[in-house]
Amino acid sequence: MTDRYAVFGNPLSHTKSPFIHGAFARQFGDDLIYETIEAPVDGFAAAVRAFVDAGGKGFNVTVPFKVEAADLADEAHEAVVLCGASNCVKVEDGRLIAENFDGVGLVRDIVSNIGVEIKGRRVLFAGAGGATRGALVPFLEAGAGEIVIANRTVSKAEEICELLGPRGSIRACGYDAINGGFDIVFNSTSASLTGAGLPIPPVAFQGALLAYDLAYGKGKTPFLTLAEQSGAARLADGVGMLVEQAAEAFAWWRGRRPNTAPIIKAMTIPLK
Ligand code: NDP
Repeated sequence: MTDRYAVFGNPLSHTKSPFIHGAFARQFGDDLIYETIEAPVDGFAAAVRAFVDAGGKGFNVTVPFKVEAADLADEAHEAVVLCGASNCVKVEDGRLIAENFDGVGLVRDIVSNIGVEIKGRRVLFAGAGGATRGALVPFLEAGAGEIVIANRTVSKAEEICELLGPRGSIRACGYDAINGGFDIVFNSTSASLTGAGLPIPPVAFQGALLAYDLAYGKGKTPFLTLAEQSGAARLADGVGMLVEQAAEAFAWWRGRRPNTAPIIKAMTIPLK
């Protein structure tokens, strides 16, 4: 019987998940379908129930349902509990088990694909939304030396630090308080989705090994342009993170980890 998977979100017109999971399935000759389900914004739970009742085995979750997915789950893994959001659910005997692979995907992309070590590094996250929350635990586990979260609304960054402070060196600030360089600088805000720049002072990129924009498919964003002009050695966007988190989901659902390299290559838009 054909196994059924899906991604839930709204809107979903630009989702790359069916392409990625279709490519993974072909690597193993797996018989599965991966659908897009654009649930009404107030109808996520009902749409999930219908999917499960129809035999759905697992699903990804994107904006705006990640927090609701965490709340809806019968069981949640640590990353979900800590960040309060889930991007991946497995259905087992009708029960929903929630995971969040965004952070693991980001760490894998940086260490395995880009080849930059995280251990001992000074890391700046610009932004304090769901993506930053999801990324932090795997970063602390990978041994980051110091993590600074800068956000327009500083209180949101402080909230995250209160939650995760006991797990490592992590502090919050506003953009105007950044006065030194970092080894890795992330744009984890949604500014690149609208083409907006960020008030990150150029000094933040002094000596930077990597500037990474979590947005993907946007070319050289204002953030990446600023990073390049300010001396960052290497630039990357979030396409590798997207494919790596999808591979984690596929492996969790189906017990086999696909090869991500050809899919990342096919989806990469050169930044230069
Ligand atoms: P959220 O909506 O949860 O958070 C948005 C963040 O962006 C907040 O910190 C907000 O600041 C900040 N922000 C938005 N606009 C501006 C601006 N003009 N200037 C300064 N700060 C701004 O978004 P997510 O965390 O879910 O997503 C963030 C980014 O990560 C998006 O680009 C998304 O596409 C990408 N992403 C990529 C993934 C991948 O696989 N590559 C996976 C998940 C996300 P404030 O709190 O002050 O409002």
